[in-house]
Amino acid sequence: MNHDYDLFVIGAGSGGVRAARIAASHGARVAIAEEYRIGGTCVIRGCVPKKLMVVAARFADAFDDAPGFGWQVNERPAFHWPTLREKLRAEVARLSGLYRANLERHGVEILDCRAELAGPHDIHLVGKERTVSAAHVLIATGSAPWVPHNIPGAAHAITSNEIFELEQLPRSIAIIGGGYIAVEFASILNGLGVQTHLLYRGAPILRGFDMELREKLQEALAARGVNIHTQADVDRVEKHGESDFAVHTRAGETLRVEQVLYATGREPYTFGLGLEKAGVELTGNGAVKVDEHNRTNVAHIFAVGDVTHQNAQLTPVAIREGHAVADRLFGGLEVEPLQYEGIPTAVFTTPELGTAGLTEEAARARFGDALQVFRSEFRPLANTISGREEHTFMKLLVNGADDRLIGAHLLGEGAGELIQLLGALIAAGATKAQLDATIAVHPTVAEELVTMRTPS
Ligand code: NDP
Repeated sequence: MNHDYDLFVIGAGSGGVRAARIAASHGARVAIAEEYRIGGTCVIRGCVPKKLMVVAARFADAFDDAPGFGWQVNERPAFHWPTLREKLRAEVARLSGLYRANLERHGVEILDCRAELAGPHDIHLVGKERTVSAAHVLIATGSAPWVPHNIPGAAHAITSNEIFELEQLPRSIAIIGGGYIAVEFASILNGLGVQTHLLYRGAPILRGFDMELREKLQEALAARGVNIHTQADVDRVEKHGESDFAVHTRAGETLRVEQVLYATGREPYTFGLGLEKAGVELTGNGAVKVDEHNRTNVAHIFAVGDVTHQNAQLTPVAIREGHAVADRLFGGLEVEPLQYEGIPTAVFTTPELGTAGLTEEAARARFGDALQVFRSEFRPLANTISGREEHTFMKLLVNGADDRLIGAHLLGEGAGELIQLLGALIAAGATKAQLDATIAVHPTVAEELVTMRTPS
């Protein structure tokens, strides 16, 4: 069959862009369609602007700590949101432009429109009223914020999609959820001076992470002023005015706030994609079912990233999957399937959380009495002078049977940076003895990682 393209990618986010670029570099004729903006959630309204907001929020600590180091801060500096918002917009536009230029440089045809499947090989370009055909199709449409439909008034709330575009920062906010997005924005907004309430239906926050880390992060955020309400089920949200909301919990508590943010997870963005016309199988919640090579039940249709049923909605996962699909299809390369267990990840709260490998609970279930746990908790050097009480916490998990590192959990400054390397050590099968044999870099936070001698 003669098709217009060797590969048609729907969605120009992290996974789609990588797959398109790599496929084109292997010589494939590639088109990519994007209905919104090139770059996807990560670049446009996710990781990138979020991380810059984290940086902004952390200046509050620097201003607080400075007097202890001799700085005379006569007036507390004020934060001006519109200035940051414009800077974020400009940076996001710059990055989106870079992504576009990079695709063009590799000869990928960019179609600025929505694309929907019209058949197994046919793709309808919405608005252009044209149908094209492709030998292979990659679904990389990502995910969208999910808000519970059964909570009256929940539709009044914003989601992480809108947070970067607010005209003004609210003076108070209720954030509903206890996952990555809820806790990161609770930390950011609290740092920027917003009176912040976090309402989580369980306890402690961040289900799925190491229990000790969850407890310690929750304590640290509360100590920094985030009002954390656990076991808090929202009953309804009422809007009384433009910046006047009442959040009622089932326990009878009412919070009056200027803004409500729902961060209760993200759903695969497959609605209206026409997947049924190509016979692509979905799970009950609309995710595309894929095998370990990201192939759907239709042999020439693939899916990567958040839109798939695998449960690691992380940018580097989508990128890795997209890259592998392109390498396998057009580069003739054998790429090992991705291992989803124990992926290193960071939660950019302040203090920051980093985790890789197994949680202590999972490690104990798997290795029983062979599990060795090494812990270190200390006041980082800077805090001795600043007077800040916050501690850094580190935990290494080792399988005593072969001395290999199987998990690492960090809470404190630089946790996201450190966990990247600990993740590499875990993947490489490093042993505790090898860590111990490494000379410490002094004085650093990281030196603790090579000086923990006694299991607790
Ligand atoms: P998460 O899945 O991380 O968390 C969802 C939260 O919402 C959980 O606390 C969950 O509670 C709660 N929840 C779910 N349904 C309901 C409901 N009906 N009522 C009340 N609460 C509910 O999703 P996020 O939206 O925070 O983030 C989406 C994904 O984006 C993350 O999973 C992560 O993979 C990715 N991400 C990664 C970041 C990073 O790498 N730093 C940053 C931001 C996002 P429960 O625990 O009880 O199920």
